[in-house]
Amino acid sequence: MLLAHKIALNPNAAQRDYFARAAGTARFAYNWALAEWKRQYRTGEKPNDTALRRQLNAIKREQFPWMFDVTKCAAQEAIIDVASAFRAFFEKRGRYPRFKRKDGKASFCAANEVGTFRCEGKRIKLPVIGWIKMREALRFSGLLKRVTISREGDRWFAAVMVETDDVKPVNQLLPVVGVDLGVTMLAMLSTGEAEEGPKSHTAALKRLRRANKALARKRRFSANWRKAKHHLARVHTRIANVRRDATHKLTTRLAKKFKVIGIEDLNVKGMASNRCLSRSVMDGGFFEFRRQLNYKTQRYGSRLVVANRWFPSSKTCSCCGVVKETLALSQRTFHCDECGFEAPRDFNAALNLAKLAASSAVSACGELRSGPVRKSRVKRGSVKQEESPTALPVVA
Ligand SMILES: [Zn+2]
Repeated sequence: MLLAHKIALNPNAAQRDYFARAAGTARFAYNWALAEWKRQYRTGEKPNDTALRRQLNAIKREQFPWMFDVTKCAAQEAIIDVASAFRAFFEKRGRYPRFKRKDGKASFCAANEVGTFRCEGKRIKLPVIGWIKMREALRFSGLLKRVTISREGDRWFAAVMVETDDVKPVNQLLPVVGVDLGVTMLAMLSTGEAEEGPKSHTAALKRLRRANKALARKRRFSANWRKAKHHLARVHTRIANVRRDATHKLTTRLAKKFKVIGIEDLNVKGMASNRCLSRSVMDGGFFEFRRQLNYKTQRYGSRLVVANRWFPSSKTCSCCGVVKETLALSQRTFHCDECGFEAPRDFNAALNLAKLAASSAVSACGELRSGPVRKSRVKRGSVKQEESPTALPVVA
C-alpha cells in the first residue's frame, strides 16, 4: 500500500532559501516542458517525459546553468509531473495542464531511486542540501518512494510517500452509521452521538472577524494592507488546520468502527448559513471529510455510501418515511405530521442517511464506494430546501 505522511519541517534560513530556489527551478522546468510538449504536439510529434528529460539535460549546461545549483530531481520530477498531468487529462481525471505561476504554490519533488533521500528519526536527508529537521518522525516504515517539499503560507512541509504494509484492514464491530455534517458542531451520528468539534474554533472565529475588519480598514496594496492580508491568511490556515485535525480523528474512528458509512453528497447547510467562515473554508471542510472517508474506508476495509444530491435527508421522516414538502432551516426539530415522530433535525437526517447506507449495502455491493449511489425515489425538487437562494449553482 502506498501511503503518504506530510511532515512540517524546521529549516534554517539557508535551507529555506534553497527550498525556494529548488521550487523555482521545478516551476521553470515544468513550464518549459509544458511549452515544449505543446509545441511537439502541434508539429505532429509524440511528446513523452523521457525524451523531454533527455532534451533538457542536453541544453541545460548551455542555456540554464543555474539549474545545477539545486538537485537535478527538481527539474526531472517536474517534467514527469507534466506527463502525469497530461495522462490525468486524457483519462478525464484532471483539467488541461496549465503553466505554473510564480505566486502559486511552491514545491519540488525528489524520487528515491538510489537513496536520493532518506529519513532518520526526526530528520530527513535531501539531495544537495543535506539534513533537514522535521517536526515529527515518519509514521510508516517501508520503502521510501518519493518526497514532495512544498510551501504553505510561510511554512515548509515534506510529504513522504512510503510503500508500506503498516496499515491492515480492521474488523469493524458495528454494521452501519449515518453522518450528518453540521455547521455549529462537527457532525451528528445516527447512533445519537454528537461530535462537538474543536473548542478552539470559536476563539479562532473571533480572531478571524478581527483580522477581516483590520484588512478592510487598510488602504489596498499598501504595506500595512499586505501585512493584514498575511495575518488573515494565517488565521485561515490555523482554522483549517484545527478543523482538519478534528476531521481526521472523526473519519479514522468511523472507518474503523462501522462497516458501512452513509454521508450526504454536499454540505448544503454549510454553504448557506455561516457568514463568518468563508465559503471555501466550509466547502473545504466538507470535501476534506469526504476525501478522508473515501481513502480511509478503502484502507480499513469499510464502505462509504454517498447519498444522491437530491436525497431529502432532512425532510424525510426517519420513522415512517414520509417526505415533507418544506422544512425551514430555522426549524431545529423534526416533527412528522403523519406518525408523530419527533427528533432533533440533524439526528433525523443522520438516521435517514444510515437507512440509505444500509439499504444500498444490501442492494449493491462493491462498486458504490463513492459518487452518487442510487436514484432517490422522491421527485427531484428544484432546489434543496436548505440551500439559500444566494448559493451558487452546484457543480457535481
Ligand atoms: Zn413519520
